[in-house]
Amino acid sequence: MPAVTSGKVLVTGANGYVAVWVVKSYLEKGFSVRGTVRSESKGKYLRQLFQSYGDKFELVVVDDITREGAFDEAVKGVDAIAHTASPFHNRADDPNDVIVPAVHGTLSVLNSALKHGSSVKRVVITASCASILEYGPEPRVFSEKDWNERAIREVNEKGRAAANGDKYCASKTLAERAAWDFYNKHKSEVQWDVSVLNPPYVFGPVLHEVDKPENLNESSRLWWDAVVAGKLSNEELATNGSAWVDVRDLAAAHVLATTTPEAGGERVIISPGAFKYQDFVNIAHRLYPKLPAGNTSYDPAKAVHMIQYDTSKERKLFGIKYHTAEEMTRDTLEDFIKRGWISV
Ligand code: NDP
Repeated sequence: MPAVTSGKVLVTGANGYVAVWVVKSYLEKGFSVRGTVRSESKGKYLRQLFQSYGDKFELVVVDDITREGAFDEAVKGVDAIAHTASPFHNRADDPNDVIVPAVHGTLSVLNSALKHGSSVKRVVITASCASILEYGPEPRVFSEKDWNERAIREVNEKGRAAANGDKYCASKTLAERAAWDFYNKHKSEVQWDVSVLNPPYVFGPVLHEVDKPENLNESSRLWWDAVVAGKLSNEELATNGSAWVDVRDLAAAHVLATTTPEAGGERVIISPGAFKYQDFVNIAHRLYPKLPAGNTSYDPAKAVHMIQYDTSKERKLFGIKYHTAEEMTRDTLEDFIKRGWISV
């Protein structure tokens, strides 16, 4: 069971919302990081952000992650890989717009690690609870044993007409499955193993380059729309939700998945629990009364959480001390205020 406690980590899609926190966490724990971005211009902000780490932070351009051999150079000399790059948006018309980069991006990294990653010992994959949950008529508790077969069926049957959420879920399910299939096929040929992290909705302060709220990454924009912009109806605020995790805890989980020997060969759900958007609205409005009050008759004790997760594996392997909803909301709003996006 290889694990890595020092050295260099390759982080794919280093400019993304989750990835920038992942890079920061590795650097703070003493690792060197080689990030990949799709173009030189996407790396400029990162070079500034991590300037104080000197040559412990480097960037390489991988313009097309789906191309075979795309990561052949990038994997050389690294001790671990964190593969985060994957499209997360609800704009796909053709399901392949998200499925192809998700699946082929993953396979391309693994293939490069197989052929050229002679120093790689652990590959951490940023998967998702999207590959675990299945929406159904009854509340349900999911675990790492579950797979989202429904989204794949929906996309196969309906194609472009499938719900956009199902297209994204299918992309993550197919990509994670491809990773496990690849690893199981090649594990006797490699000296590395795979650890998969399955987070639900990721919220929390923003560290990547964003000029305005409309351009936030998908999960942060959903949070903004609900908590700051007041775009959800009272009914939606009390009923829309799922499970969540603070982006800083997910980043810490990437380091733990790299350094914990027993995380090899495991998929691990990373979440402190369930939410309804009104839970965050309540905190935000109490901290900053100018922000929307939302649904004032919401009773959290009566909220029905359709999707919940058994996180006992995470507690056993990592024992993360999660940020609370209060801390996440406070820090996210402070970040938005500092950016001049809200005045309170
Ligand atoms: P972002 O949109 O902020 O970042 C996505 C990253 O992937 C960017 O670096 C982006 O590069 C890259 N990427 C997207 N599409 C492609 C493509 N076609 N080819 C090459 N690179 C691509 O999203 P997040 O940070 O939120 O997501 C990061 C990872 O975390 C993803 O794997 C996502 O599925 C997973 N995840 C996120 C959750 C969330 O709530 N945020 C929940 C669960 C999992 P570029 O900027 O050049 O487009």
